[in-house]
Amino acid sequence: MSIAVVGCSQLVTLAGPARPRTGAEMRDLAIIDDGAMLIENGIIQRVGSRRDIEAQASEIIDAGGRVVMPGFVDAHTHPVFAGNRAGEFEQRIQGATYAEIAAAGGGIRSTVRQTRAATEDELVDATRRHVRWFLENGTTTIEAKSGYGLTLDAECKLLRAIARIRPLGCVPTFLGAHVVPEEYRGHTSEYVCLVVNEMLPQIAAMKLAEYCDVFCEPGFFGVEESRQILTAARRLGLGLRIHADQLSSSGAAELAAELGAATADHLEHTSADGIRALQAAGVQPVLLPGSVYALGSSQYPDARAMIRAGLAVVLATDFNPGTSPTPSMPMILSLACTQMKMTPAEAIAAATINAAYSLGRGHAIGSLEAGKRADFVIHDFADYREIPYFFGVGSARSVYIGGQAVLGEC
Ligand SMILES: [Zn+2]
Repeated sequence: MSIAVVGCSQLVTLAGPARPRTGAEMRDLAIIDDGAMLIENGIIQRVGSRRDIEAQASEIIDAGGRVVMPGFVDAHTHPVFAGNRAGEFEQRIQGATYAEIAAAGGGIRSTVRQTRAATEDELVDATRRHVRWFLENGTTTIEAKSGYGLTLDAECKLLRAIARIRPLGCVPTFLGAHVVPEEYRGHTSEYVCLVVNEMLPQIAAMKLAEYCDVFCEPGFFGVEESRQILTAARRLGLGLRIHADQLSSSGAAELAAELGAATADHLEHTSADGIRALQAAGVQPVLLPGSVYALGSSQYPDARAMIRAGLAVVLATDFNPGTSPTPSMPMILSLACTQMKMTPAEAIAAATINAAYSLGRGHAIGSLEAGKRADFVIHDFADYREIPYFFGVGSARSVYIGGQAVLGEC
């Protein structure tokens, strides 16, 4: 059965070369005005004009004069956890710092306690609500990190819960080095040994993760400890991602470059040398303005310098219960435009095609082109620039994954 999507005020295809977009390419969304798309068996066959495509289809989806775009690809999330940290949110507003809250047993460790106590089924149930939020915001694929278990069994429990995420596309990442757990406090090197010698080999053998990530920051895991973990992960065939330079400039971006990581994420404090190193090594920066906003900071990463340097910038939510409790890519686009001075087009390229390449999925998703999976969203706007402009509005009217309606009008 063939389906034609018609009535698109703008069909935002992001068609282009088979690689991530850099520099001025990020402003070219390859929009077809009054465009149409032909889908068969969940795969895009053609995009073009309505006249060419409508006659070939047995079924019609009419977008009603609205924007049709690829689903957002959210390349950095922590979606599986128990409980939440609304209490700490209030404490921070009243003046407590993140470090003070963490020292008192709050922060990531409090989510670890609650997540360890939950069963796999309870975590799957809790995650269902988060998945619905992602869909309502027009996201069709997420990267999903573990990191709230911090024992072999609890990390496997999280990764098995991640493997059960439906209907979103999902790329699993092992983040055993998220924070040193309570029982290893003051014994970081012993915990690193546990990650390297027990967790990583078993998780790789069970194929529970495609990537390994480390929170590389003084007080969490230093550059040398991060190098040890990521080198071991690379030997096991995992791709690499790094939480880098979020709270200080510690050399984490340079480490990402040295190891040939797929991404370096955060980069609020990365130096000009760090940006050059990422460019030379072809590492994609994943920028997470939601965490800057939610922490009440104004130190956003320097997206303009990165685009000028030719980096294939990615935007993501960093959805997590502590520092970025938002699943909304439209909100992230709005922050990228207003706070980081990215144009709406650059922000959309960063949240779709560039994000897909950062997850090793550039051949399959991230743009509307022949041969790719028909993951697309009808937004309740006539112009793509309205997505970051009307902030706080749920813009996704209908969401399709593999040509199937998963939200909205079916
Ligand atoms: Zn994160």
